[in-house]
Amino acid sequence: MKKIVVVGAGTMGNGIAHVFAQNGYDVRLVDVSEAALQKGMQTIEKNLARMLAKGSITEADQTATLARLTTHSAIDSSLSDADLVVEAATERVELKLDIFRTLDELVSPEAILASNTSSISIAQIAAATRYPKRVIGMHFMNPVPVMKLVEIIKGYNTSDEVAKRVQDLSVALGKIPVLVHDYPGFVANRILMPMINEAIQSLFEGVAGVEEIDQVMKLGMAHPMGPLQLADFIGLDVCLAILRVLQNGLGQPKYAPCPLLVNMVTAGHLGVKSGSGFYEYTPGSKETRVAARFLN
Ligand code: NAD
Repeated sequence: MKKIVVVGAGTMGNGIAHVFAQNGYDVRLVDVSEAALQKGMQTIEKNLARMLAKGSITEADQTATLARLTTHSAIDSSLSDADLVVEAATERVELKLDIFRTLDELVSPEAILASNTSSISIAQIAAATRYPKRVIGMHFMNPVPVMKLVEIIKGYNTSDEVAKRVQDLSVALGKIPVLVHDYPGFVANRILMPMINEAIQSLFEGVAGVEEIDQVMKLGMAHPMGPLQLADFIGLDVCLAILRVLQNGLGQPKYAPCPLLVNMVTAGHLGVKSGSGFYEYTPGSKETRVAARFLN
């Protein structure tokens, strides 16, 4: 596999493009938003500069990585020779089905189509294509250049050969692949999201405050970040969407999202991206403080 297409240049897409390009692959980064493409490339440049300053890459690596990246504003025939497409567009079922239908028509039947979805069924995405055996989940973690895990999700029809090739490829990227099956939330979010939901429920019931809940998990369980702060980073809307997938897909009341989470998302308090969630954030500053409404 030499030619890689990454669809979506947002938080995950630019990180995925960065890692492939740094490891010698030609990468075409596609986004329908010109602003997202520009911001994605700026993020890659900033992250490479930081790596250079730390001495983890050379100036030649930095130049070669950037030279392997091109940007594209649409999925069109210029991308038809791709060996692998990694889709990292917005987490909406209909959007992903549309993208996979288009890709299926465009690229060779031998090319692998992977999705970075956090929770949408790989079988459902594959069913929108003519060759479901080449569709697979390749779930990178945020921030992609730093995090080692790639959760590889084998859909109902994904072939063993495709699963093996994607695992080998993850190793070639310096990552550690873990193969899982295609059930709601896969493994990462099936375990993470109920923990986050329980932290929110504890806050809702007044068991403890925002900082206290986060401190217990950081100091007591050696988590680098507390669950409420992590929820703010992931995006409370994303957490809610994944919990709905677990609730609908597994049909058990234990996955029902806490009413406080639902309320916060409805009110537009989505965490870091909206400037406020359980904590408040100032753009350009790393400082966080507990949101005023949770202080008493
Ligand atoms: P994001 O909102 O930061 O970026 C999504 C990008 O997709 C946007 O730039 C948008 O313009 C683009 N897009 C939308 N429609 C498109 C189309 N038709 N063609 C090309 N680009 C299109 O989202 P994100 O956080 O990067 O998430 C992307 C995917 O990765 C989602 O499936 C999400 O569930 C998954 N994911 C996210 C995280 C995370 O921590 N954010 C972690 C793991 C997986």
